[in-house]
Amino acid sequence: MDLSRVIKPWKLEPPKTLVFVNATIIDPVEGQLIPNATVRISGGKIAQIDTTGSETVKEGVDNSDIIDLSGKYLCPGLIDCHVHIAVTPGEADLRAYNDMTERISLLRQPHVLKTMLERGFTSIRDCGGASLAMKEAIEEGVVPGPRLFIAGFALSQTGGHGDMRARHDDKLCCGGSISGISRIVDGPAECYKFARDELRQGADFIKIMGGGGVASPTDRIEHVQFSDEEIKAIVTVANNAGTYVTSHSYTPQAIQQAINLGVRGIEHGNLIDLETAQLMAEKKAFLTPTLIAHVMSKQMNFLPPDGAAKNDEVLEKGLRAMKMAVDVGVTVCFGTDLLGPMHFAQSKEFTVRSKVLTPIQILRSATTNAARLLMQEDRLGQVREGFASDLLILNANPLEDITILDRSEQSILGVVKDGRVMTSRWGKLRADA
Ligand SMILES: [Zn+2]
Repeated sequence: MDLSRVIKPWKLEPPKTLVFVNATIIDPVEGQLIPNATVRISGGKIAQIDTTGSETVKEGVDNSDIIDLSGKYLCPGLIDCHVHIAVTPGEADLRAYNDMTERISLLRQPHVLKTMLERGFTSIRDCGGASLAMKEAIEEGVVPGPRLFIAGFALSQTGGHGDMRARHDDKLCCGGSISGISRIVDGPAECYKFARDELRQGADFIKIMGGGGVASPTDRIEHVQFSDEEIKAIVTVANNAGTYVTSHSYTPQAIQQAINLGVRGIEHGNLIDLETAQLMAEKKAFLTPTLIAHVMSKQMNFLPPDGAAKNDEVLEKGLRAMKMAVDVGVTVCFGTDLLGPMHFAQSKEFTVRSKVLTPIQILRSATTNAARLLMQEDRLGQVREGFASDLLILNANPLEDITILDRSEQSILGVVKDGRVMTSRWGKLRADA
């Protein structure tokens, strides 16, 4: 008896060896297609890629595990660098989420995770709210989902973007208390303590609310949040642990403060100016715009009136800002930041970006650039020997039209994660999960 299977009956079977023949590989590094490729995946990795027509790459593999991809494309799995899986569908507008308990959220998260996989996202970076328990549940096979990188709770100052108390709420909250997807911390001492505590509880990186936000009730978008000393404390903690800080920041002032203090990533960044974009490029910082969140918040009336007005401003400027950042050489990553009932629109970010960026720029944002942000560039984001076998089988070429990724039902035939077929919409590909 395999005791480990008794103890953890959900344990996944080891990934099978599969061989894809006649594949056209999409290479986001060079922005080109690699035709007539045979790709062998084994043990969850891309074991071998052959373009010489050699038969040895198929050795020892059953015919039923050799899949002909003639006319199809093999694309690296997609990475969304800004999600919140804890703010699940279930309510119509943001105010209702004050009543959503962690239990309700946890029971709904598997739905969010499964549908992300179906849209082709094999890795996601959660910028506040996701737990180590869920990350482990995915890794162990309890819940099917993308590979999860977590911030734990985002850190916010009192009255900052993460403080969800309304103006007339006069209850004091103490250091470290949880507010929605954030933790409230003030002063360097609490910053040290709770950044360390997030890392202790499994955070892969630290997220701070470095400026005002759209959805928060009592701040303005132009506010700079946290002092230099507070941000320095958090950056020290992250760097000492071999990881990094990313900051929710919209304005040049908030972005410059963060970047000059050693923050490595900027979330949103809609109001960035040229000087600040150049600073980010020089410091090799990462920018993760999340434009679809603004488009959908407006369409679905998700925000209260205060938030809706702030939203209009940042939506308009966000597209131009992203284009400028790419043009001056900032590494731009793919993010969505969809909350509540808006998760379904995740892939629409591809279409929004296609208004100002080229298909290869957008594909890189969701593959190679994202992998670097995750510090996984030796493992994720490419169809390459030795990399994790996170693959999409597509029936159209995203380098020609990136918006095919926004029509996953038609264009994504299969999603492979860690060598397992997680989603199949194609008779020739049997789903493992
Ligand atoms: Zn967010």
